Amino acid sequence: MAQEARAEFSELLAARGVSRRDFLKYCGSIAALLGMSEMYAPQIAAAVQTAALQPALWMAHGLCTGCTESMAQVDTPDVPTVVLDLLSINYWETVMAAAGTQAEENVTATVAKGGYVVVVEGSVMLGQGGNVLRIGGKTGIEELKTVASKAAAVIAVGSCAVDGGWVAGKPNPAEATGVSKFFADNGIKVPVINLPTCPVNPEWVVAMLVDVLLMGQLADGSILKKLDSEGRPKLIYGSTIHDNCPRRGHFENGEFVVFGSATQAADEARGFCLYQMGCKGPQTYTNCPLVRWNHRVSWCVEAGSPCIGCGTSNSLTGGPGNWVDAGTPFLSRTANVRLPGIGGVQPATIGAVVGGVAAVGLIAHGIGSAAKGRVKGVPTETQKVYDAKGGDR
Ligand code: SF4
Repeated sequence: MAQEARAEFSELLAARGVSRRDFLKYCGSIAALLGMSEMYAPQIAAAVQTAALQPALWMAHGLCTGCTESMAQVDTPDVPTVVLDLLSINYWETVMAAAGTQAEENVTATVAKGGYVVVVEGSVMLGQGGNVLRIGGKTGIEELKTVASKAAAVIAVGSCAVDGGWVAGKPNPAEATGVSKFFADNGIKVPVINLPTCPVNPEWVVAMLVDVLLMGQLADGSILKKLDSEGRPKLIYGSTIHDNCPRRGHFENGEFVVFGSATQAADEARGFCLYQMGCKGPQTYTNCPLVRWNHRVSWCVEAGSPCIGCGTSNSLTGGPGNWVDAGTPFLSRTANVRLPGIGGVQPATIGAVVGGVAAVGLIAHGIGSAAKGRVKGVPTETQKVYDAKGGDR
């Protein structure tokens, strides 16, 4: 039986134009994302090859479809596509061929059998009694309760599903919130794995699906031990962007790009640090610099944009006050960051609160170095006076 499955899988690889070598390489990168040694690649490959089709539902709520778009940006044919072919995604509104009654019947049939995984993209919209979003004649929140009722787990992909994201930005007329908060308020006990960022990184989604569906980590409960207090996989969200940023040397040397300065263009070309441009890398916990995006080609800071902090999660409180409200205007230097329950604090303090001692040290070190005149940098004393006057911007 296993042999048959392997032969079938080899045919699938060949049909997709994926070499066995590429497939094993990809399994190695999944192993790394799951915190295993790459030595486990053959085991992951074996699990993928012999797995029975696993049912999943991909539910679209208050969204821009950016996360679906992100998933679709894998080349065709591609190994992630092959892996996703092994999942029986019975409902994915944005991309499926089925429509109307037939599509809704897919949901009903999957729910009746139970034991499936639900992927939620987009925010849960509570406004107007849930009527802000209607799916198949029901409110979005009724639909979410139905699919959660017999689900083995929910994966909330993208910042909107995690804490409302952009949709929950002030004044939040749709009363958008995240899945974890909605479940907590409604006594729904299904485990939720949160994958914030805007949009979600497809590599993380595939790694979680492999972890949950193929490696049996949901069945034995071990996946839950890998999550932090925000329900995020620690391996993906365990270090700050700043920790792994290629511009960090410039931060330490006090070499910053400064808006409107005479040397702005030259400093951008030199790859100087973007902290003065509003970079939220020191307080944002994701492994974007390591995994990167679009087939690992690049990512925001490498492409010249300051990190806007979209990987920050506020899943337990959801709604207003999330990273969108706290981080805007994104391109101004972070003088003060508002966090619910903490109030206005400096990035270094946030680092301390969430355990980012390294970030605190680096900020102190970078600014301290420039202040002592050991390196050429921005006029930090002037900057400090400016920050003090700016208050909670
Ligand atoms: Fe990189 Fe931003 Fe940190 Fe500068 S502040 S080193 S650009 S993460």
